Amino acid sequence: MLIRYDRLRRVAEAVLGGTGSTAEEAVIVAEHLVRANLTGHDSHGVGMIPYYVRFLGDGLLVPNTAARRVRDDGAILAFDGDRGYGQRVAREAMDAAIERCAETGVVLMTLRSSCHIGRIGSYGEQALAAGYVSIHFVNVQDHPPLLSPFRGGDARFGTNPICVAVPGSGRTETILLDMATSKIALGKARVAMNKGELVVEGRLIDHRGRPTSDPSVMFAEERRGALLPIGEHKGYGLALACELLAGVLSGGGTIEPGRRRQGSIVNNMLSFVIDPGRLVDLEWMRNEIDAMVAYARDSPPVNPEEPVLVAGEPERQSASDRMANGIPVDDTTWSEIRGAAETVGLSSEQIEAWSTGSF
Ligand code: NAD
Repeated sequence: MLIRYDRLRRVAEAVLGGTGSTAEEAVIVAEHLVRANLTGHDSHGVGMIPYYVRFLGDGLLVPNTAARRVRDDGAILAFDGDRGYGQRVAREAMDAAIERCAETGVVLMTLRSSCHIGRIGSYGEQALAAGYVSIHFVNVQDHPPLLSPFRGGDARFGTNPICVAVPGSGRTETILLDMATSKIALGKARVAMNKGELVVEGRLIDHRGRPTSDPSVMFAEERRGALLPIGEHKGYGLALACELLAGVLSGGGTIEPGRRRQGSIVNNMLSFVIDPGRLVDLEWMRNEIDAMVAYARDSPPVNPEEPVLVAGEPERQSASDRMANGIPVDDTTWSEIRGAAETVGLSSEQIEAWSTGSF
């Protein structure tokens, strides 16, 4: 089904409000989730709500939790998310880092022990809105590992994402590189499994470390397979860097097996926010960005139907298409959202009324 952006957001807000969040928190989390859907990242969109309802029931997610400042030392800020909604605490921590950056020119901000912070690009977008550059490293805890090290035969990491946000100019759009260090997201394997499809070769290994195209290996109760890292040893190195930067320097810790895994998703993040005006002349910077991005884009496409793009462009294209035509929500996800809504006391009729409209 296709659901209009504002209607999907209304449903998300209602279910999140039903879990005990204040209206303000429900709006922040719902907006983040629906924007993930808009940008084409359904794996981090409203389909996460049933997981959050389960985490809440298990006491692993604590609604109405603000980012708690644990260190404030000039250009260094550190926060604890106390298992609150990550979309809220990471947003608040970024707001504080952006405000401080106006004074210090650069900020190193860490956030530890937050429940799932979702699409990391949204924190890059916060920095971009202030005209700043940002860099983010994230690790994942409290969840079984999903990603194998290069040459390893089983999973030892989360899908540890990295994000780099660079402002554009009047002529060039912002550049937003926002990527997992796995070749495919777990959500993409789930979608393929639900459709009975295979995934492209070279993305997965089974529980014995053998290459496979069968996405169900990622969802076996025991003898689970693993996602392979991007760029072989280089992606493995970046996934490990996320553990060491986000996990260790935030104080939240890594995914090493001595730490409890209770089945939710906890994220730690290390972010740099940089005011480029403290480093270079902004007019020069914009011209240089224009020239460099144009140079990359002008490379003759190998396939004329697939022009060279710049990071952030596929998400903008998806957002404008889905804003105009609606957001596709598959049957499995929709029935899980309805189930979550019922758990928090909302009727199916109410959810249907909010979601159906003039399409
Ligand atoms: P992806 O592979 O779809 O895109 C990765 C990056 O590549 C994006 O910046 C995109 O703009 C760019 N890109 C895509 N096609 C391109 C092309 N043809 N030319 C140039 N650039 C192109 O994304 P992903 O790695 O599957 O990650 C999906 C989302 O999952 C991200 O938002 C990430 O933050 C999120 N994530 C979150 C967690 C967490 O624990 N919170 C963990 C993993 C991933």
